[in-house]
Amino acid sequence: MTIPPGSTIGIIGGGQLGRMLAVAAAQLGYKCHVLDPVADGPAAQVSAQFTQAAYDDVDALRAFGDSVDVATYEFENLPVGPLQVLVDKLRPSTRSLEIAQDRAKEKAFIESCGARVASWREVATRADVTASVLKVGVPLVLKTRRYGYDGKGQAWVRSRRDEDAAWEAIGQEPAVAEAGIDFLAEFSVIVARWADGRHSLWHSPQNEHGEGILRRSTVPCSDVVAAQVAEARQAAVGIAEALGHIGVLTVEFFASRDGPLVNEIAPRVHNSGHWTIEGAVTSQFEQHIRAICDLPPGPTDLTGKRAVMNNLIGDDVDRWPELVAEPGLHVHIYGKGEARPGRKMGHVTRVEA
Ligand code: ADP
Ligand code: MG
Repeated sequence: MTIPPGSTIGIIGGGQLGRMLAVAAAQLGYKCHVLDPVADGPAAQVSAQFTQAAYDDVDALRAFGDSVDVATYEFENLPVGPLQVLVDKLRPSTRSLEIAQDRAKEKAFIESCGARVASWREVATRADVTASVLKVGVPLVLKTRRYGYDGKGQAWVRSRRDEDAAWEAIGQEPAVAEAGIDFLAEFSVIVARWADGRHSLWHSPQNEHGEGILRRSTVPCSDVVAAQVAEARQAAVGIAEALGHIGVLTVEFFASRDGPLVNEIAPRVHNSGHWTIEGAVTSQFEQHIRAICDLPPGPTDLTGKRAVMNNLIGDDVDRWPELVAEPGLHVHIYGKGEARPGRKMGHVTRVEA
């Protein structure tokens, strides 16, 4: 069912992804209503309506659901139970959330779709850490099943001696142990899927991380990555299809010597797709709005030869006077308060003609 311009789109989560979704929605004539526990966040600042409520406040979610024509989320660590009150309006559905927010379910699901992941084991106890080291080998990385982002909730085990410290470091939480991959590169596949199964894909960005945080995305990717994109796209589309996903889904990959391995999925627009705002004919944000409102897909071709997106992390954002003075540099600042270390404060994109 088409949700026409003039309608109201609900966005659960009020960070920078919600902000860029709301800006894209506004351009198409929609109003946005943001729900977030914290007032005056990046998305609320640019939206018509805002509800300050906890993500598990069922009454607030019900009222929010009644006030919007369609609802989406920009954050995957939402409790799924309370969302049932607006499930008829929610795109993508809670199924995409449930899978993506639990690394063990996620990996099992990806494998059930026929895609490959690094070898892994579930970890529930200290003894499981040792069992994983014996089975998977070192180096391996422990990742909490839930609530990890930007490298948080992860600890490396490089030898048997690290087991105790790593288990402590992740707070003895339920986790997965995953083989450390000596990857050639990292890249992602961003796919938008419509309810009827149509989908669109962008050029795959090559992604560089530092300290677990995305620093830079570049399109087109290098030849090493390009050789793996076809297989990765097939995996990503298969995953979107199996989820019945509506909207944008991002699949992060390691380009390994053995071909593409899925690292993780995000049931949403993604930092590695920020370059699409200026670097693609239709951005990931606009395409997500088009998909959830059932408008036709927009073309995703590159607008230039090359696009490079660099994140502004922590006090990088203090360089804004020189950045805005650079001709042709597209500067995005998210409107967050304090530039804490490791916090994503903005990004810049350059498109080469
Ligand atoms: P997050 O949810 O924090 O993005 P990821 O699992 O994507 O968590 O890990 C963040 C980054 O850490 C990855 O992009 C990659 O650079 C590195 N990393 C994670 N897992 C592995 C692994 N198994 N082998 C090598 N590097 C890894
Ligand atoms: Mg990641």
